Amino acid sequence: MSNQHATLDWNTGQPYSTQFEDIYFSTDSGLEETRYVFLNQNHLAERWKTINEASFTIAEAGFGTGLNFLCAWQLWNETAPDKARLHFVSTERYPLSPADLASALRLWPELAALSQQLLAAYSHMVNGWHRLVFEDGRVTLTLLIGDANDTLPQLKARVDAWFLDGFAPAKNPDMWQPALFASMATLSHSETTFATFTSAGMVKRGLEAAGFAVTKVAGFGRKREMLCGVYQGTSQNICISIPDTKLANSNAKTAIVIGAGIAGCASSYALAQRGWQVTLIERHDAISQEASGNPSGVIYPRLTGSDAALGRLALSGYLHILRLLKQLGLEKTAFSACGVLQLAFNSRELTRLQAITQQGLPVDLLEHVTATQASAIAGIELSHEGLYFPEAGWINPPLLCSSLASHRNIAIKTSTEALKLERKGDSWQVWDKHGLIAEAPTIILASANDTMQFQQSAHCELEPVRGQITFLPETAESRQLKTVICTEGYISPASNGVHTLGATFSPNDLSLEVRAADHQTNLQMLKKLAPGIYREAASEGLGGRVALRCTTPDYLPMAGPLLDSVAIKANPPRYNADPATLPWLDGLYINTGHGSKGLINAPLCAEILASAICGEPSPVDSKLLAALDSNRFMLKKMGLKRLVMGLAAFPYCKMR
Ligand code: SAM
Repeated sequence: MSNQHATLDWNTGQPYSTQFEDIYFSTDSGLEETRYVFLNQNHLAERWKTINEASFTIAEAGFGTGLNFLCAWQLWNETAPDKARLHFVSTERYPLSPADLASALRLWPELAALSQQLLAAYSHMVNGWHRLVFEDGRVTLTLLIGDANDTLPQLKARVDAWFLDGFAPAKNPDMWQPALFASMATLSHSETTFATFTSAGMVKRGLEAAGFAVTKVAGFGRKREMLCGVYQGTSQNICISIPDTKLANSNAKTAIVIGAGIAGCASSYALAQRGWQVTLIERHDAISQEASGNPSGVIYPRLTGSDAALGRLALSGYLHILRLLKQLGLEKTAFSACGVLQLAFNSRELTRLQAITQQGLPVDLLEHVTATQASAIAGIELSHEGLYFPEAGWINPPLLCSSLASHRNIAIKTSTEALKLERKGDSWQVWDKHGLIAEAPTIILASANDTMQFQQSAHCELEPVRGQITFLPETAESRQLKTVICTEGYISPASNGVHTLGATFSPNDLSLEVRAADHQTNLQMLKKLAPGIYREAASEGLGGRVALRCTTPDYLPMAGPLLDSVAIKANPPRYNADPATLPWLDGLYINTGHGSKGLINAPLCAEILASAICGEPSPVDSKLLAALDSNRFMLKKMGLKRLVMGLAAFPYCKMR
């Protein structure tokens, strides 16, 4: 499906869809219509005043101008307790352009404070899932850009209220299909309500057939009737089959994270932002000492031009870190959004870049550039065409890690080496060579290659890959470089008189020694990328840094809960086993195997884990969740490849 914005007609001063030939909201008063139809008929004010749960989830078909979202957010702030969190998941086939969204939201001055926050976060609305976080996580918007009938079956969530707002069924019959109502039923529970402006018979019958009790009530304005109701079917939602006993005790929201690189710091931050108390354990005397310790790394997505998990994760991870960086507000010395040029230096790369270009991503995200355009952007002469990512750039990973780990809910324990994990009652105990060092019900392993030293995660098939970077002193010519240039390696603009050039890729080489031969490899890469800089720099004396990255056999990271490998091998399940019946290691999760893409993928994986742990909607679709499953290699070896897909649902249900 191509990326396409909504096309609007503004002749009446209000948005009108030329794709669907319908209005976005009542011409009488869109604001009052939203409050009457969606907020009142879902009884949100009453429910939120007495809310016991830690969070409430609304799902919507048809995000449009975001008016329903903003009204729900406003009401949430007026009625819900301070510590509760609102999750608003909305799916949208044709997102408004940011300019159209701004015009539409100008119609509601009383929502201006919230509209501005939405507009500031609303960018790059390409096909895929986007998580926007507001008010330090009190309100989270997950936008599923795509057709509702494709996106909702991929959602893992426990929905408390539905807003059905996808234009009139007569104008948009494709959306109001039995499949939509079936998806709603799958995500609902016995107190889930719905409301919709329409009273069309096919909608009423469809909802009833899916298990909803449907009531007709007076409609808004000139509309005679509308529909609302509650789910009464048998819930197939695995997310509600496990009672919420765990979050009840006061110790429940405590977690231990092992490893303080980007995966560990981001995992700690994602939980801390949700009000959890996190102990972050690190064996070195400071955080980010290994692969996240390089003075510079590149923030850009290595897209594949296909719909495969690797490329989709890259795009989602990239958009996620860009939004996270906005939230963190790092100094320019920590993150320079100087742009990244990815050059097609051979025919294979050219084919890949052409496939990416054909995906039709908007030019504010990436743009195909000729060699001449690339040279003008970079400030030095380049001889290859390529892709330009204007918001990408270089980052100082240690400064990113310390910004994440400095959250007030995180206690860092450095010079502490976790050697053994033991389950005691409802808790995990972490031991070093002196004794017990920490205890909590939830634990995330973010310890890269060392993850395999724990008995519980020894089956993870992680592989070290040595990488050396080269520090290249600037020259008169190289000082002109304004953007990062990359292919399989990269060179960054000079910072404090030095470029970073990297990185080599040597699987199963554990040496941490800086080698002249590896500097030569990096320089050969530079020769292909930017020969002008190479000629001047080749003779300089060079420094560098070596780190071991941690990869997996399919180059996708591992993010999810772990199964007990001993128990599952002793009693192998069938390929279609109910995930709830499998021997899970309760509360034990993993976030590792990021290879050289930790800056892009680890923060999104951290968000995936925190959402799973807290029983919140998934930030990525279930196919991607399955591709990242931490047990996939073990299960594939056991001939249980098909079971992996079913497991994606499970983590999102565990804590409810
Ligand atoms: N809730 C919106 C608001 O607050 O502004 C108004 C929604 S407008 C009436 C309907 C929206 O549904 C449009 O933005 C349209 O693009 C979207 N839509 C229509 N069919 C869809 C589908 N099959 N999947 C996802 N979105 C769809």
